[in-house]
Amino acid sequence: MSFRGTESAAMAASRRPMLDSPFSERLSDGDEGEPVKIQAVRGTRDILPDEIPTWQVLEEAAQRLLGRYGYREIRTPAFEETELFARGIGAETDIVSKEMYTFDDRDGSSLTLRPEATAGIVRAVIEHNLMNTDPALKVYGLGPMFRRERPQKGRYRQFHQLDVEAFGFTSPTIDAEIVELAIAYLEACGVEQHELILNSVGDGRCRPGYVEVLRKALRERASEMCGDCQRRIETNPLRVLDCKVPADQAIVDQLPRFVDHLCPECRDHFGEVRRQLEVLGIAYRLNHRLVRGLDYYVRTTFEVLSGELGAQNSVLGGGRYDGLVRDLGGPDVAGTGFAVGLERLALLLPPGEGQSRCDVFLAPLAGAALDPALLLQRDLRRAGVRTMLDPEGRSFKSRMKQADKLGARLVAILGEDEMKRGVWTVRDMARSEQEDVPEGQILDHLKEKTNG
Ligand code: ATP
Ligand code: MG
Repeated sequence: MSFRGTESAAMAASRRPMLDSPFSERLSDGDEGEPVKIQAVRGTRDILPDEIPTWQVLEEAAQRLLGRYGYREIRTPAFEETELFARGIGAETDIVSKEMYTFDDRDGSSLTLRPEATAGIVRAVIEHNLMNTDPALKVYGLGPMFRRERPQKGRYRQFHQLDVEAFGFTSPTIDAEIVELAIAYLEACGVEQHELILNSVGDGRCRPGYVEVLRKALRERASEMCGDCQRRIETNPLRVLDCKVPADQAIVDQLPRFVDHLCPECRDHFGEVRRQLEVLGIAYRLNHRLVRGLDYYVRTTFEVLSGELGAQNSVLGGGRYDGLVRDLGGPDVAGTGFAVGLERLALLLPPGEGQSRCDVFLAPLAGAALDPALLLQRDLRRAGVRTMLDPEGRSFKSRMKQADKLGARLVAILGEDEMKRGVWTVRDMARSEQEDVPEGQILDHLKEKTNG
């Protein structure tokens, strides 16, 4: 349906019969008894306050580390025209053929929630001519991605990625640097166990030849393989190497290997990437089946796995995508990059310790103590001291419990007795010691005790 001119969306919607309205069920439920509880959509998850410190570690490590390598942040929209992903990622991939959240906008255009970040970043690079001002462009992005997959541990329908892209570098040195950066990032986040796997998927010169070799080998075994593979033998045989169906594994393992069919240029490039990784002391394992789930890769592909993740064992993946910018309508510049799944990375880290949420907890115990406590709280916060106050007037015991739970280092108590004497009682929670501090010195005293 469309709406134009003076007609508002609400007016248009109000003419729709109730039964067609997405809201109708909820409206009628609300009329009788308890309102129905609405839960998070399957495959999405809330990141609760207790988990946030871990996420901040991941985000801060990204900012710190990427700055050292010369990357700057870019933020692109969470949805794009569907055509961008269909062309960028490849129509035969799982992502495009099965996993995208695609919908018609009200003007009839087809939009898609981004399933990955590279296509959107490339679009932005082309649209804003970023290559003109910065011929060696290094950017990164952080944000949610959307794929309609079967939810399980480490696999969600909305998840987050750190995405790192370098444009305009053809040299194998950038492939090695990107791999080194990916490992450095995992280590900066505190991941100790990881395994790097590496492959080369050739380029426009040698790929057609290898694809034919592969197709020939596959046709001989087609009848024993899954339906998806049988179709892909004709449409996109490289995707067969990515097949996860258990019964197909023995066949796929024995297929001809791309590394044995690379053209001299791709062979040299791959050899130099491997040599530089060895110079940098980075261990890797070659895996000839590593073609990755997106069609745009050329030459180097890599993934980092962690045994601690179970079935969803890939923490990050990336590689070189030299033709992508050109295919999406931009200049013919090289690209290399990787994406880390932040949920999977968070699963690898120990849960954050319960963090202290305030330095000073104020306990006004008499009605007349509230105003001085409010002023002291304001002044402490202005001075940068994390301060909380319980305005609910509970018992002394329950306030001390609360201060302990919040991780307060000091509790400042102002009761009737203290007011008469012109002091605050200040309790050091760790030492279980208390002292009297004169009213006029309380602000400086608490500032000094908490800054040290
Ligand atoms: P997988 O083989 O596990 O499906 P993938 O090859 O589809 O991964 P990429 O497209 O390379 O993954 O995305 C890079 C990273 O993003 C993955 O290594 C993973 O950490 C994360 N990731 C991908 N899909 C999901 C998902 N549905 N839920 C959570 N994280 C994901
Ligand atoms: Mg996938």
